Amino acid sequence: MKHGEPWPGIIGKYRKYLPVTEEMPVVTLLEGNTPLVCARRLARQVGLRAELYIKNDALNPTGSFKDRGMTLMVSKALEEHVPGVICPSLGNASASAAAYAARAGIRCIALAPEEVVIAGQMAQTLIYGARVCAVRGNYDDCAAMAQEIAVENRFVLVNSLNPYALHGQKTAAFEICDQLGQPPTYVALPVGDGGFMAALWQGFKEYGNNKNRAPRMLGFQGNGAAPFIAGHAIPDPQTLAAAIRIGRPANWQGVLDAVEESGGLLEKVTDDEIVAAYQLIARLEGLFLDPSGAAALAGLVKLAGQGFFKPGENVVLLATGHGLKDGYRAAIQEPSEVLYVDNAEEIQRVLENVH
Ligand SMILES: *Cc1c(COP(=O)(O)O)cnc(C)c1O
Repeated sequence: MKHGEPWPGIIGKYRKYLPVTEEMPVVTLLEGNTPLVCARRLARQVGLRAELYIKNDALNPTGSFKDRGMTLMVSKALEEHVPGVICPSLGNASASAAAYAARAGIRCIALAPEEVVIAGQMAQTLIYGARVCAVRGNYDDCAAMAQEIAVENRFVLVNSLNPYALHGQKTAAFEICDQLGQPPTYVALPVGDGGFMAALWQGFKEYGNNKNRAPRMLGFQGNGAAPFIAGHAIPDPQTLAAAIRIGRPANWQGVLDAVEESGGLLEKVTDDEIVAAYQLIARLEGLFLDPSGAAALAGLVKLAGQGFFKPGENVVLLATGHGLKDGYRAAIQEPSEVLYVDNAEEIQRVLENVH
């Protein structure tokens, strides 16, 4: 890619870092190249003394970072002439799989827990034409079933057990290095299956000349869904952050290695802390994160309160998914903010009382 050429998507841009040949058909929605936004008001408000940046991966084509892995997994699936892809999901992975499968002209089957389907979180997956199965069980049950079906039917499993998922997702680390001019001191993100944490760490190690200065990886989980912190699987995981409600993560060792090798840490946050962070970043920075990204922010707020970060350091928070994915939650969070009026005078009175 030469200077001034249009963005080609992550495969076109980072081809030499990916296990692809020139012959592979590229299925892309021009994912990647997402903004890195400095969040000064937020950092000041929470007493975070380092510089804070938000890597807004919510602005990928289907609204989450999952598109980075999906472009590569679906391109490979097309190259291998398989009939389709299959995906266990809490909403975002299957939305991404369905979109890329639609573009490739192959089938997509999504397996989601029944409660996720009932909550309306498979709407985006359905609109792209995927077949959705509502599984009476949790995400971990969906993952086990998807794996079994994939093996028996030559469908490609497109979750983070597929090695190409991590190769695609690591490009977020490349972009962060390019945007900052060097790796940050810390990288903070929510951890569900652990794929993104493992992928980012891989990316920071591989890219350019980062050997001596890779960031420390900070991973955050929901209080009731924190297998990495408990040190064992959680049979009935619970957290408000639906995208990280995973009790039996697929990338166990990858996450532990990332945290240990980088000198990072894992921490958990409560639902109340997630809601507070979710509102704070929207109001102070105009960024509408999904609750999982907010969970990572809640973790940063907690660490900042303990004086963890120092002046001169910088922190990159991964906004992993878009708040509009679950806009309904935002609406029920703040019903009292809406004022019902009949005329301009009433609005005038409101203005006079707003500071
Ligand atoms: C998938 C997802 C996560 C968790 O990523 P893992 O690779 O499963 O750890 C976090 N946030 C959002 C919005 C997601 O879609």
